[in-house]
Amino acid sequence: MSRKEEKNRRMEIRRDIGNRQITTDSPITTYYSYPYLVAHACFSCQKSFKLTYQKDCEKERICPECGKAVYLMERAFKTPKRSDDEQWKKVQKLYALGFRFQSYGRDYEPLPERLQEVDTFVESYPEHELRVAKPDSSLLPSKQ
Ligand SMILES: [Zn+2]
Repeated sequence: MSRKEEKNRRMEIRRDIGNRQITTDSPITTYYSYPYLVAHACFSCQKSFKLTYQKDCEKERICPECGKAVYLMERAFKTPKRSDDEQWKKVQKLYALGFRFQSYGRDYEPLPERLQEVDTFVESYPEHELRVAKPDSSLLPSKQ
């Protein structure tokens, strides 16, 4: 490799590193800036929407598709497939029981995988770290 080629190669590497820094910096900046977007779920549509974070009026947010209320699920919420009724009922039930999908980065008992495990889970861990809200039985999913 000639000296010129070597110089070009280094410049390209520097440019690549420069580009990479721009792309990794920007999401971090967005992550910490307010208002930031966080998952809200519509249990009727079985969809989630990224909406601005407004803790104090979480019940007033409206689903853009059906006009019903959407609920603040918090950042660690993983949206189930729209067709996965069981998983949607599970997250709705957990929500109704006061769980929020927060990411504390500390150890806690992982949330149940299946809808049928929720009752036993709540009995076993009534003071679970993610059970941070007042339960609202009106939100419990209807039984099938
Ligand atoms: Zn909806």
